Amino acid sequence: MFTFRWVNIGLSRDSHSMARRKEAPVPEQRESVVREIARLKKERKATILAHNYQLPEVQDIADFVGDSLGLSITASRLEGVERIVFCGVRFMAETASIVCPDVEVLMPEPNAGCSLSDTITAKDLRHWKSENPGAAVVAYVNTTAEVKAESDYCCTSSNAVKVLQSIPEDKEILFLPDMFLGAYASLMSGRKAKVWPGECHVHAPITAERIASLVKTHPDAETLIHPECGCMSNCLYLAKEGEIDGGIKFLSTEGMLRHVAQSRSKKFVIATEVGILYRMRKQNPGKTFIAADENAVCRYMKMTTIDKVLASLRDDVHEVKVPTQIAEKARIPIDRMLSLA
Ligand code: SF4
Repeated sequence: MFTFRWVNIGLSRDSHSMARRKEAPVPEQRESVVREIARLKKERKATILAHNYQLPEVQDIADFVGDSLGLSITASRLEGVERIVFCGVRFMAETASIVCPDVEVLMPEPNAGCSLSDTITAKDLRHWKSENPGAAVVAYVNTTAEVKAESDYCCTSSNAVKVLQSIPEDKEILFLPDMFLGAYASLMSGRKAKVWPGECHVHAPITAERIASLVKTHPDAETLIHPECGCMSNCLYLAKEGEIDGGIKFLSTEGMLRHVAQSRSKKFVIATEVGILYRMRKQNPGKTFIAADENAVCRYMKMTTIDKVLASLRDDVHEVKVPTQIAEKARIPIDRMLSLA
């Protein structure tokens, strides 16, 4: 049913400790940085968007915090704004630049990339398409603008199933680049897909054994799993076989946030990047959140600090601008994704 080709992306999780070693600014310094950001934001007619995986200090100064889809929608609806300071990784800033061509998009940390988006290039995709003529290409939003420009549909983890269901039944589907999300969306939508063998170095190492052990230790907790996690298919299987229970649900980060707010449960095991726990704890003070893997830290997401946000606003750096020709082509699959949101 699925075609997997293995790619060794060669990243070690030891490198993630970088973010944990970074010292927090002392409170007085921090306050003056926060005040200056607020002043410059007003003066420069800027809005700060931050992804759920950003450092707490960055989430706290943002105007909007959300997942890739939420931030794309927010960016596409902004009015009266001249600058977006995008606290996330490069493909997200590119998406904002595509949906807001008249707004300057700044990235406080220009080197914040994504190991998942790096697993496929536009050249790789053109080759894959040539081997599968006529197939519809569904690109997860975690891709470069060049890859999106070669795709027919864009999706995020929250609408991948919906996007696959919207494709005419007679079309073959190529899904890229995350193999776990691709397999999940294919299973849930009932649509067969060939899936690119990419993975995220943060989500892929979260194992089903770890989930099963946490479910046993915390029988009163609900377990929420991001479909990019390496444990996805095993957990689906084990849950189906009755081997693990614990109210396992597969959700995007925004789906998780909505779920924990509405659920009567008081305890949750969360399988995704640990940055999300900050927002969960802030919004749900009476509930307990346990990281499925404390080492699930995205070093790219943690590269942005409030000092860099301040420098970006003050010095008007680092602009992310997608060339018009690529942006126009990439806009088509992005608009299809937004129309299904
Ligand atoms: S968590 Fe994974 S998919 Fe998300 S930005 Fe980091 S490397 Fe990319």
